[in-house]
Amino acid sequence: MVLILNDVSAAGKAGADGRGELSTLAGASRGELKSALSSLGVPDKQLRMRSGQLWSWIYARGIGDFEEMTDVSKELRAKLAGAYSLDRPQIVSEQVSQDGTRKWLLRLPKRGHDAKAPEVETVYIPEADRGTLCISSQVGCTLTCTFCHTGTQKLVRNLTHGEIVGQILLARDRVGDWPGAEGPSDGGLLPDAERKITNIVLMGMGEPLYNFENVRQAMEIAADSGGLSHSKRRITLSTSGVVPEIERWGAEAGTMLAISMHAVTDELRDVLVPINRKYPIKDLLQACRTYPGLSNARRITFEYVMLKGVNDSLADARALVKLLAGIPAKINLIPFNAWPGAAYECSDWEQIERFAEIVNKAGYASPVRTPRGRDILAACGQLKSASVKLRASERDPAKATSGD
Ligand code: SAH
Ligand code: SF4
Repeated sequence: MVLILNDVSAAGKAGADGRGELSTLAGASRGELKSALSSLGVPDKQLRMRSGQLWSWIYARGIGDFEEMTDVSKELRAKLAGAYSLDRPQIVSEQVSQDGTRKWLLRLPKRGHDAKAPEVETVYIPEADRGTLCISSQVGCTLTCTFCHTGTQKLVRNLTHGEIVGQILLARDRVGDWPGAEGPSDGGLLPDAERKITNIVLMGMGEPLYNFENVRQAMEIAADSGGLSHSKRRITLSTSGVVPEIERWGAEAGTMLAISMHAVTDELRDVLVPINRKYPIKDLLQACRTYPGLSNARRITFEYVMLKGVNDSLADARALVKLLAGIPAKINLIPFNAWPGAAYECSDWEQIERFAEIVNKAGYASPVRTPRGRDILAACGQLKSASVKLRASERDPAKATSGD
């Protein structure tokens, strides 16, 4: 059974009362909270303390209404509510898969050149021992990996750090992952063992290293121990191989890393993951070898999508383990998830097993990733929203010239 709920969102209602759309503090950095408070007349010497209170209400407790901030004066609460909201991205639809996977289509506020409010997808995957939230970093993607649905959607725009954090807040709201969300609340914070969302993966729409600064800031907010407190060891950034940014990401953000490998020769990788033409396998693996913090306890995950007759021969499997020799690595074999119009097929199960056996024998454990949420097109690489990028002439008809 696939459940589709529309308009379940309480968010996005700002503006309905004629105040105009208020900008949200849900997703704000500590610095932004301080500026917001300062603009409301809070004296400089109180900014640290007051922003700390807001931080804790927003990120440790998940509240969505300034009125609930009981240790903030009534007067300041009223000022905050008059100037800001705590809105999350607006939910356009929520789908629940047979296997419990949930996918949200979210509408973001219009910014800059946006002709319409753009939309992105976020996915929650519950498993026996963990709950993984797969978040998006861009609307669409500039890259055009031939097996990826997102790759068929042009880049509409980068997400702001607030919109990236907003996906986490919204998912926590929807799965009941805040203190006291279920059952009687003792007011305490949620112990790690009781959390539903234990892992965050930047494997949704977009190439996160092409939106470096926003993703970095968002992950700082996600990892802050006084707030959302997601350990960086349980946050994984997946990249198609933006080599110059890999080292910088490790040094500045220090999360776990996943590489979309998918081929063992430059000839094939040039086709499947076209960024390979710019940064070939040799350079990519060199960046992996020197990834800051890499050790046997902190391995890089190499993702390998299984495409029938394309990259799934046993010679490919042997070449893969040879290529990765010496790099502390995990290998994730991903059965190809088809989407409307895709030019590939998923490898046969027996072939995936034979391929996995070679990988296993080389010392890599349980490498096949079970597809989740396929019935709601929520699996890896199936995400795509209808948002389109308009040409300059469409954004501003006054500038239209014939032939544009
Ligand atoms: N842009 C980043 C992160 C988003 S894609 C990247 O490319 O790494 C997340 C993962 O899903 C990547 O490994 C990607 O190669 C894989 N993927 C894309 N399309 C897929 C599909 N149709 N089936 C299975 N995996 C897919
Ligand atoms: Fe973009 Fe990643 Fe899809 Fe490639 S696989 S098109 S980089 S989202």
